[in-house]
Amino acid sequence: MFFDPLYLLVMLPTLALSLWAQFKVKSTINKYSEIGTRSGMTGAEVARRILQQRGITDVRVEEVDGFLSDHYDSGNKVLRLSPSIYGGRTIAAAGVAAHEVGHAIQHAERYAPLMFRQAVAPVASFGSNVSIFLILGGSLLASASMTLLGVVAFSVAVFFTLLTLPVEFDASRRAKEVLANMGMVSGNEGAGVAACLNAAAMTYVAAAVAAVAQLLYFLFRLGIFGGREE
Ligand SMILES: [Zn+2]
Repeated sequence: MFFDPLYLLVMLPTLALSLWAQFKVKSTINKYSEIGTRSGMTGAEVARRILQQRGITDVRVEEVDGFLSDHYDSGNKVLRLSPSIYGGRTIAAAGVAAHEVGHAIQHAERYAPLMFRQAVAPVASFGSNVSIFLILGGSLLASASMTLLGVVAFSVAVFFTLLTLPVEFDASRRAKEVLANMGMVSGNEGAGVAACLNAAAMTYVAAAVAAVAQLLYFLFRLGIFGGREE
């Protein structure tokens, strides 16, 4: 089943979409990492100021190595920003920092999709790991029930990937709003922030499309859409 031309036909466009999204986010972040904001605040200052304004006092802001390695660690309540974001006084730095603070705010407010996503995470990770063995094993042993179990496990992982979308879109929405409201970006700087965050969102959309396409392929091969009988 893994040498199936149909599989390539399904996965190649999604791979292309994912590569395009990654290229787009890198080029957009690079472009707006060259453009300073009028407020002149670093990403770290932006993050700390928003946290303070929201009354969130238990989240630390730290620098982390890498490019686009920015993330909010909810377990340790640490907001980690990559060097160009942490110390950058640019539109990209303000946008990415505010987005990550958006996740810290979601956490503080116990935003339902985030909480649900965290609850599903261990199951999804397990499902993702075992699914490939079950599907491959089921295929090799011609065991439909083993394959089906694999596809069920895989669908939990797909569901988790889909849950990422509302969480990410909401964090970006909060970021744009708070940056404008607090006057940390003004005028056309908002459009630059939006460009950075929309490009980042596309990588999550691409991942979701790939996951759903793969699941549909598995379901098709299981005969759920009238695919051929094994
Ligand atoms: Zn995010």
